[in-house]
Amino acid sequence: MSTVVLFRQNLRLKDNPVLALAQKMSRPIIPLVLVQENEWDRTWFELKSMGPFRKQFYSDCVKGLDLEIRKLGGQLWVSSDSIEITLKAIHAHHQITHVITTKEVGYYEQCFEENLSHVCQAVQIPVTFIWDHTLIQPEDLPFDVFNTPNSFSSFRKKIEMSPLKIPPDITDHGLFYTGETPYSLEKALPLTPSPGPIGEPAAWAHVIDYIWESNAILHYKNTRNLSHGHHVSTKLSSWLSMGVLSARQIMREIQRYEKKVKKNISTYWVFFELLWRDFFHFQSVKHGIKWYDYNGFQDQNEPIPKYNADRFNQWASGETSEPFVNAHMKELITTGYMSNRGRQVVASYLIHNLNQDWRRGAELFEHFLIDYDVASNYGNWMYIAGVGNSHTKRIFNVQNQAKKYDPGNEYTKKWVNC
Ligand SMILES: Cc1cc2nc3c(=O)[nH]c(=O)nc-3n(C[C@H](O)[C@H](O)[C@H](O)COP(=O)(O)OP(=O)(O)OC[C@H]3O[C@@H](n4cnc5c(N)ncnc54)[C@H](O)[C@@H]3O)c2cc1C
Repeated sequence: MSTVVLFRQNLRLKDNPVLALAQKMSRPIIPLVLVQENEWDRTWFELKSMGPFRKQFYSDCVKGLDLEIRKLGGQLWVSSDSIEITLKAIHAHHQITHVITTKEVGYYEQCFEENLSHVCQAVQIPVTFIWDHTLIQPEDLPFDVFNTPNSFSSFRKKIEMSPLKIPPDITDHGLFYTGETPYSLEKALPLTPSPGPIGEPAAWAHVIDYIWESNAILHYKNTRNLSHGHHVSTKLSSWLSMGVLSARQIMREIQRYEKKVKKNISTYWVFFELLWRDFFHFQSVKHGIKWYDYNGFQDQNEPIPKYNADRFNQWASGETSEPFVNAHMKELITTGYMSNRGRQVVASYLIHNLNQDWRRGAELFEHFLIDYDVASNYGNWMYIAGVGNSHTKRIFNVQNQAKKYDPGNEYTKKWVNC
């Protein structure tokens, strides 16, 4: 008899409520990951959902998780079959008594959850979904998720009316199934791992360095908008998007640092930005399918602008008449990362200067970003388009932005010849 833990965007052992619940069931745990290439290759306009950078990072995170599980005597089961085939095959040999997984946000993620529920119902195995990905748990919100205020300021103020409650770390693991797995990790994920540490050890090395060793967190608020530079921002987004770190773990480290070393506006501001992330996660649940609508969830009925392939491709490849836009786009398509300021500027340029559908830009970000997150990506694009959590269109003057955030032109010169 076994409990199946299906890892999704929670690729970690520490502070993992899904694993903690599985431990309570006192049966060997089969740790499972599903690699669904058809999901990665899904397109909306023309680009595949998962591009090369995220594929590599995902593969590293899964392999990192396997290494951690092996330290405890088990190993990760990585199946490329559908959930239905996989669970039936496991059930035939290991009599599954329970399936536990996360509750995610996003349309396709929810379709998967519905399908999983049906599959489990058909074979009479109970399934439990656990919400894990936000800092604040839905039940601790001072409002129902479906009544989350549409304005970030009201959301934040309501949250900040009571002291922040971060539940204690619930790391609890050990009872993994120790036999062989019929599913080969290398076959499902043939990419060679990146050099150096991967998975949780790599994520924690980054947290220790950013917060404790370099004290970079103390200047976060002053540097977070710069386009480049060591530790100008936390670079936590990719670890958060795969769930290699939880937002709770980060917040606990910040609180520990504030107690032991120093508390200032910058240490607070990381929390403030993590609230933006929570905000978009709850908002995406509230608005459902409208999260992907050209007119978002504002009551307006603007016609979709005509697609201009030349304009779009110039933007996408960093060949517009604006070097500051081009530099950011080149960084994105070369590395899979772009600063928050860069994302705002290039999104504004595509929507308001080139008059293109914001969803094509969001699709390109989805493909290239290592830290792609359905709620944060679509939420931020809608915000700049003025069809989501703000009525105001966010229109940036590119040249002023360049003067302010890349005053020596160093960043721009690094990426484009100008
Ligand atoms: C058009 C657009 C698309 C975006 N797409 C994504 C995405 O797919 N995935 C993603 O994680 N972030 C996205 N962001 C938000 C933000 O740009 C990134 O989270 C940030 O740049 C990541 O770098 P960092 O970890 O150093 O951020 P920091 O500045 O160090 O922020 C700390 C953490 O707070 C959260 N955060 C900060 N700003 C935002 C924000 N505006 N919205 C939501 N969360 C935020 C992130 O989790 C981040 O890791 C997008 C922003 C824009 C304008």
